[in-house]
Amino acid sequence: MSLVLAAPPAITVPVRGGGEFPVRRVYCVGRNYVEHAIEMGHTGREPPFFFLKPADNVLPVREGETGTMRYPTLTQSLHHELELVVAIGEGGSDIPVEQAMRHVWGYAVGLDMTRRDLQNDMKKQGRPWEIGKAFEESAPIGELVRAADASVNADTAIALTVNGQPRQASRIGKLIWGIPEVIAHASAAWTLAPGDLIYTGTPEGVAAVVPGDLLEARIDGLPSLSLRIAPR
Ligand code: MN
Repeated sequence: MSLVLAAPPAITVPVRGGGEFPVRRVYCVGRNYVEHAIEMGHTGREPPFFFLKPADNVLPVREGETGTMRYPTLTQSLHHELELVVAIGEGGSDIPVEQAMRHVWGYAVGLDMTRRDLQNDMKKQGRPWEIGKAFEESAPIGELVRAADASVNADTAIALTVNGQPRQASRIGKLIWGIPEVIAHASAAWTLAPGDLIYTGTPEGVAAVVPGDLLEARIDGLPSLSLRIAPR
């Protein structure tokens, strides 16, 4: 095969202890914590729904380092959404809930960065959300941990500080749709494959950040994610 252009670079996420996880697709779950659904003006009682980000929106940040996200264009309201990310190691479609966990390769801390003003404009007009959700560096992610080496459960704490001040704090058990249900629902709509990432939704407390802010995202047992917002 002779490529007529240079192939785009592979998108990978570092794994704690070594190796790189190749990214295929990035799925995101909307409104998957009750208190966040309420703060967004909804009841919190609806089936899970999904949107996607391109794989090249992923911004990997190694443990112990501080990543840099440049403040994106077009927005005056860049919001953080702290999320547990599930990495898929074995694909499938119509995966039953009872079998879903065997498709999980590992976990990471992620941020679903959102141009909230643009997302809200699109919602009002009934247009697609991509401009609010799918843009450069909009999916920061920390190092992945293999499922066998992680102990993610209902009691696992998830928390975000900005410049040292608490912004988001919850527990994984507060997910409306847990990891097996999310995988089952996603695989009913799309064929999951190795390399897929699923951002599982954010708890309440989403808010704007500005250039200079330092975000510290952590989930118990996973490598934390440190991110500085840089000027445009
Ligand atoms: Mn989100």
